[in-house]
Amino acid sequence: MKLYKVKKSNIDNRGLYAARNIKDRTKIIEYKGKIITKKQVEEDPKFDNDKAIYLFNINKKYDLDGDFKYNTARLINHSCNPNCEVSGTGLKIWIFAIRDIKKNEELTYDYGFGFDEGYKDFPCRCKSKNCVGYIVRSESRWRIKKSKYYKSHK
Ligand SMILES: [Zn+2]
Repeated sequence: MKLYKVKKSNIDNRGLYAARNIKDRTKIIEYKGKIITKKQVEEDPKFDNDKAIYLFNINKKYDLDGDFKYNTARLINHSCNPNCEVSGTGLKIWIFAIRDIKKNEELTYDYGFGFDEGYKDFPCRCKSKNCVGYIVRSESRWRIKKSKYYKSHK
């Protein structure tokens, strides 16, 4: 039985939801895609953007491009308080639970975007208590908390 189902999401468009209770550290779904070399990434204008959401580092030489319809895991939304993380095992990438997840909870992970000029183009609607309003990786969120925007919207 599948651990997830695709549903309309409160965060953005569609999302993935737990089809049953999932234990911490469970492999939930493979993040499928095409293995490409870093050189291909450099040369393809499609990746000419530091917010290539579907591109994952595999090792020094290869990346995985998950920008394909068959990659169901690409529907997983970002959250400032995620219950999953993306982790590689060999040449494969999986979505793992990072805590116990209850049936019908939306699956989320931290997209890991850096903090830069463009962060305002990526608003976050995860509604977590700690949401900073933008999709920015946890290590960089303090920068947003310091900014005026955040204070005026608290
Ligand atoms: Zn958020």
